[in-house]
Amino acid sequence: MNSHPFDVIVAGLGVMGAATVHALAERGARVLGIDRHDPPHALGSSHGRTRIIREAYYEHPLYVPLVRRALELWRKLENEAPLPLLRKTGGLSIGPPGSRLVEGAAASAREHDVPHEILDAAEVRRRFPDFHVLPGSSALYEPGAGLLDPEACVRTLLLRAVHAGAIIRSNEPVLTWTADRTGVRVYTHAGAFAAHTLILTLGAWLPELAQLHLPLQVERQTMFWFEPRDGVARHWPYTLWETTNGTIFATFPDLGEGVKAQLHHGGETTTAASVRRAPDRDDELRVRRLLEEFVPAANGARRDGTVCLYTNSPDAHFTIDTHPAHANVVLCSACSGHGFKFAPAIGETLANWALTGQSGMDVTPFRITRFSVAT
Ligand SMILES: Cc1cc2nc3c(=O)[nH]c(=O)nc-3n(C[C@H](O)[C@H](O)[C@H](O)COP(=O)(O)OP(=O)(O)OC[C@H]3O[C@@H](n4cnc5c(N)ncnc54)[C@H](O)[C@@H]3O)c2cc1C
Repeated sequence: MNSHPFDVIVAGLGVMGAATVHALAERGARVLGIDRHDPPHALGSSHGRTRIIREAYYEHPLYVPLVRRALELWRKLENEAPLPLLRKTGGLSIGPPGSRLVEGAAASAREHDVPHEILDAAEVRRRFPDFHVLPGSSALYEPGAGLLDPEACVRTLLLRAVHAGAIIRSNEPVLTWTADRTGVRVYTHAGAFAAHTLILTLGAWLPELAQLHLPLQVERQTMFWFEPRDGVARHWPYTLWETTNGTIFATFPDLGEGVKAQLHHGGETTTAASVRRAPDRDDELRVRRLLEEFVPAANGARRDGTVCLYTNSPDAHFTIDTHPAHANVVLCSACSGHGFKFAPAIGETLANWALTGQSGMDVTPFRITRFSVAT
């Protein structure tokens, strides 16, 4: 495997690309990582100071083994990190009767023996008096759940990758690529780079460079930080809330920068190139209305706000597969709003795939053959 200067080129160094470059470099591969910006940055999907990591996975039990593997790898990485990456806060999922959030999380927890408690509304109010839970609601409390620091994670993955021999090129957009049986060529303004395999971890930019039509939709999301009442929010768990109309939103403990709050979905369809980058008054009001009803203690002065991108697939599962026209090009767009926590497990899967042809993980649910795609 040495007729090219690189074994693998990874295009896009958000958390998925950073984890992939790291896993490849750790395995001794000659790897080049390229990003159009200088990661970690705030223009894609891997920023905003906190990302939830939980095992009681309401979306589907199939994610539980994957998050467990990711957690092992995050802990291992944290041992080599200059700053903490993980913070155990406990996690609460609250919803009305029949809530997919609570029932889905409970199903995953039961199937995979995830330590958890089911609380009724009165018990939630007793333990967390700042949370205004509707009568008849229930909650799943997961004591082992917590938060990752996304900027620190991306930075550490890239630092450790470079330490293990990876070459990183920042502020250098990939313009296009070609592939044939002998290898791949990746073109930037600086020239052409050759390798055996190309991995595209381009987040919301994947549709621009995939060279096939994937049914992915980019969605604009906003996050806000608000001043909480004195000290109340320091020891909260992060909380996922489902309202009676099915809206899901999240609140986070105050880690020194205010209470972060964000809606899950409900943003406008956009593209990475054309997205409105500044959060506006309507974005803020939508979040404030929910805080006023459910967590009024968090509804203080706005401290900060930012825009982030979801890349959604029709079934909200990830997209991880080889390109249908090129066996040596691998695509990964693992967002749909819930991918961050899995990054090191996905990174090792992509690295194994590129180096051995075997992913080591059952990627069937993530194959692009589940969509009808045109090359
Ligand atoms: C508001 C919000 C909240 C979220 N909350 C959670 C959560 O709590 N828990 C969780 O697990 N997940 C969460 N997610 C999802 C998670 O953050 C994403 O799944 C994950 O960050 C996606 O990473 P990525 O590497 O695929 O994309 P990105 O981070 O966007 O990385 C793509 C990279 O490709 C680069 N790039 C683009 N075009 C080119 C080019 N032409 N050449 C070279 N490089 C290029 C970009 O600069 C970028 O660095 C959340 C997402 C958002 C937006």
